[in-house]
Amino acid sequence: MAKSPEVKLAVFGRAGVGKSALVVRFLTRRFIWEYDPTLESTYRHQANIDDEVVTMEILDTAGQEDVQQKEGHMRWGDGFVIVYDITDRGSFEEVGPLRSLLEEVKKPKNVPLVLVGNKSDLDHVRQVGTEEGERLAAEMACAFYECSACANEGGAVSEAFHELCREVRRR
Ligand code: GDP
Ligand code: MG
Repeated sequence: MAKSPEVKLAVFGRAGVGKSALVVRFLTRRFIWEYDPTLESTYRHQANIDDEVVTMEILDTAGQEDVQQKEGHMRWGDGFVIVYDITDRGSFEEVGPLRSLLEEVKKPKNVPLVLVGNKSDLDHVRQVGTEEGERLAAEMACAFYECSACANEGGAVSEAFHELCREVRRR
């Protein structure tokens, strides 16, 4: 039997945007309120995506790395989730520079990517409009999801990871 494909996914974004919460939500369907923000972890996970078993290795970065460490993680990954927090405009402004660094590290390859605006349950303190996220994703030619690691309505969190796997497999 053919070996099931393996994809390496790395999650990037400013510290506090909810990267760990999203990864744990995806893996366990649960929400856990507090993680050590300085912790970096990798997880293995298998999922059936379009009738194919895909093994994912997921790197949850701390979001406080220096450029060299970031570049190392980018070289390691096949696909990337860039996360911002819809209640933190600064985290949205960090998306562009992360994308540029990715492009530079992966050059001349096209980088499989999804953009995630997290904490959609906090709509009352929103600082970044949905259309702004959509526009940025269109500029980066990638899929966009607004979601909440704690509410996860409609399963957008899994959808984002699965779509990224598809994107990696298409290349
Ligand atoms: P990381 O530094 O990007 O890994 O962020 P964490 O996953 O550690 O989350 C940072 C803080 O945001 C924690 O206090 C989480 O409980 C909170 N958080 C994460 N995701 C959500 C979310 O979707 N909604 C809300 N309301 N809080 C969240
Ligand atoms: Mg974390």
